[in-house]
Amino acid sequence: MKYALVTGGSRGIGRAICLKLAEMGYPVVINYKSDKAAAEETKSLVEQNGGVAELLGFDVTDATAVDAALESWTDQHPDGYVAILVNNAGIRQDNMMVFMNNEQWDSVIDTNLHGFFYVTRRLLKNMLTKRYGRIITVSSLSGIKGMPGQTNYSAAKAAVIGATKALAQEVGTRKVTVNAVAPGFIPTDMTKDIPEEYAEQMKKFIPLGRFGTPDEVAAAVGFLASESAGYITGEVISVNGGLYT
Ligand code: NAP
Repeated sequence: MKYALVTGGSRGIGRAICLKLAEMGYPVVINYKSDKAAAEETKSLVEQNGGVAELLGFDVTDATAVDAALESWTDQHPDGYVAILVNNAGIRQDNMMVFMNNEQWDSVIDTNLHGFFYVTRRLLKNMLTKRYGRIITVSSLSGIKGMPGQTNYSAAKAAVIGATKALAQEVGTRKVTVNAVAPGFIPTDMTKDIPEEYAEQMKKFIPLGRFGTPDEVAAAVGFLASESAGYITGEVISVNGGLYT
C-alpha cells in the first residue's frame, strides 16, 4: 500500500495538503511537532471526508527522533511504505540581517532545510527499492526572489530548491520524482503577525489582486503527487498569483 506523509500537517497549508492527498485515495500520515490538538483536527477532517489518516509526531530538526519515529512506523506497517512525501514543515523568524541573532538564523535553517534532509533521506530508501516515489517540498517565493528581512528563510528555501534539482537527477531512473512548490503570500498562522496595512500594500503587487489559499497550494502538490505527473521532475511550481519571480 502507498501511504502519504505530510510534515507539518497539523495546520495551514499542511492541513490542506493532507485533505487533498486523502481525497486522492492515499492513507495520510500527519506529522506535527507540538500542536497535537490541531493534528487531531486535521485527522477528523480527513475522516469526515471519507479518508484515512493517522498521526505521527516528531520534530523534523531532530535527526534521531526522525529516524526513530519512521523506523517504528515502518515496523508497524509491513503492508506498505511512504510513497508520497511532502516536506511542508517550516517556520520563519524574520529580522534584518544586521540585527539577526544566531538562534533566528539556525532555527530557520534547521527546520526548513535540515528537516527536509533528515526526513527525505530516511524515506528515500524504500522509494528506491519499490521503484516509485513522489517527493514534494514546500519552498517559497522568498527562496526564488529573496525577501528583505528574510535572509535566513530565503537561504533555506533556496537551498531546498537546489537540493530538489540535485536529488531529482540522482533518483530519476528509479521512477522517483522530486519537485517543489513555491507559494507566494498565503494567509495562515505563519503570516498572521503581518500588519494588515502592509498586507494590503502587498496585494497591489499581485497580478491576480489577492492572496492565495492553502487549497490552491494543495492543488499543485496534489498534481505533482499524482501518477500523471510522472514525467515532471526537478521542477518548481510557483503558486503566487503571478508575482514576477
Ligand atoms: P503554519 O500554519 O505556521 O504551520 C506550520 C506547520 O509546520 C505546523 O504544522 C507545525 O507543526 C509544523 N512545524 C513547524 N516546525 C516543525 C518541526 N520542527 N517539526 C515538525 N513540524 C513542524 O505554516 P504554513 O503557512 O502552513 O506553512 C507551511 C509551509 O509553507 C512552510 O514550509 C512555509 O515556509 C511554506 N510557505 C508558507 C507561505 C505562507 O504565506 N503561509 C508562503 C510560502 C511558503 P505544529 O502545529 O505542531 O506546530
